[in-house]
Amino acid sequence: MKYDVLIIGAGPGGIFSAYELSRLDPSLKIAVFESGNPLSRRKCPIDGKKIKSCIECKTCSIMSGFGGAGAFSDGKYNITNDFGGTLYQYIGKEQSIELMKYVDEINMLHGGEGTKLYSTAGSKFKKVCMQNDLHLLDASVRHLGTDINYIVLNNIYNELEKKVDFYFNSPVDTIRHENGIYKITSLYKEYTAEKCIVSVGRSGSKWMERVCSELDIPTESSRVDIGVRVELPYEVFSHLTDELYESKIVYRTPKYGDKVRTFCMNPRGAVVNENTNGIITVNGHSYEDPSKQTNNTNFALLVAKHFSEPFKYSNSYGESIARLSNMLGGGVIVQRFGDLIRGQRSTSKRIMESFVTPTLNATAGDLSLVLPKRILDGIIEMIYALDKIASGTANDDTLLYGVEVKFYNMEVKVDENLETKYKGLYIIGDGSGITHSLSHASASGVFVARQIAMG
Ligand SMILES: Cc1cc2nc3c(=O)[nH]c(=O)nc-3n(C[C@H](O)[C@H](O)[C@H](O)COP(=O)(O)OP(=O)(O)OC[C@H]3O[C@@H](n4cnc5c(N)ncnc54)[C@H](O)[C@@H]3O)c2cc1C
Repeated sequence: MKYDVLIIGAGPGGIFSAYELSRLDPSLKIAVFESGNPLSRRKCPIDGKKIKSCIECKTCSIMSGFGGAGAFSDGKYNITNDFGGTLYQYIGKEQSIELMKYVDEINMLHGGEGTKLYSTAGSKFKKVCMQNDLHLLDASVRHLGTDINYIVLNNIYNELEKKVDFYFNSPVDTIRHENGIYKITSLYKEYTAEKCIVSVGRSGSKWMERVCSELDIPTESSRVDIGVRVELPYEVFSHLTDELYESKIVYRTPKYGDKVRTFCMNPRGAVVNENTNGIITVNGHSYEDPSKQTNNTNFALLVAKHFSEPFKYSNSYGESIARLSNMLGGGVIVQRFGDLIRGQRSTSKRIMESFVTPTLNATAGDLSLVLPKRILDGIIEMIYALDKIASGTANDDTLLYGVEVKFYNMEVKVDENLETKYKGLYIIGDGSGITHSLSHASASGVFVARQIAMG
């Protein structure tokens, strides 16, 4: 089983590595190993009827399989260096934007044409935000939508499978480096190549930690973002979402000076469960197809928590908080903003009588029993700040789902080529801790593919 390049993980990072490598040098023998299923076989068993909540499958179809964590996402490709990762710190701002634009072109060639590219450039909201002590970050956003995102992935797969060997349901166990050759094992078989690209995303974070420790590659971990997902009537944010689709707004809370930001905005979208290593958190998405759209908009409000020495288990901290909500609510908890402010738990009756119909079947409860005071205070302050630019955000019936946790993979030490101290071993995408988004992860894949193909 000898190859020229081994790619571990078939998320955006792995897919774009394979795409660019096979395009630049069709003679290369490339293998892609993926823990999960091919796209067509990825199916979360939750149907809302027989299976209502997560049954903790061996491999989570939402997070794993061809397309990676992004396969059923909203497909928002943010073309920016302002958020979504720090790729630009390694490869430069210009190149990073150029690669994100290239990824966008590939997506357009594979079914994404006709989707809208939104931009904050010249938007009046920048000023409106500033006047209210809020800060709108610059970006262009290609919104594929969950449905078109799937079509694009499917088209790319149909093209790639003719050029690349895919091994699905094949988690890679070990990576060894002997005499300039990488030897990986999957399902007790060994595969070798001179180059190895590791792109295992968030679901592969624990495995990545082990591999780095085995190969003695330095890592660093210090950040986790914790918060809630807000759901409100579409009209409340329509002036922003109609023009920008997604607005990343940052606020520094007066009380603690913490930064709170909006994240992953889904106009007319739905709130969904997310399973990370068996812990149920909340997320959201939306469809391009009008027949699948809802009357609500949802977005996350996240408080960034940075830890300094000696504590370095930031993700475990986030996991513990998420576990608390799972313990109290059996999964995700939902609470009306009015109930939170009045210090009372929401009940199913109060949620049912609410003017906002929840799009996720979550347990009515009390988020103040779950979230640390500092984080909850920050979220409440942000909701009142947002109310000034989107009146109605602080309404009693605004729904808050908790908890939403944005785990950050530990940062793996790589150089400006995204190469580890071992020549030919590249660590890219969210698994490297450098990217946290579809566009940055994909761009990192194109980047290393070009490094390899062009020698
Ligand atoms: C519900 C949801 C919505 C999102 N929406 C957006 C969005 O709109 N815009 C945006 O920019 N980002 C979004 N994201 C984040 C985005 O999906 C990720 O940033 C992106 O997918 C990272 O790509 P990646 O290739 O680095 O990793 P991943 O997409 O996580 O892919 C890694 C792959 O590696 C596989 N793997 C892991 N370990 C192994 C192993 N040992 N052997 C073999 N295979 C392995 C996994 O099964 C997985 O398929 C969303 C995430 C989720 C969960």
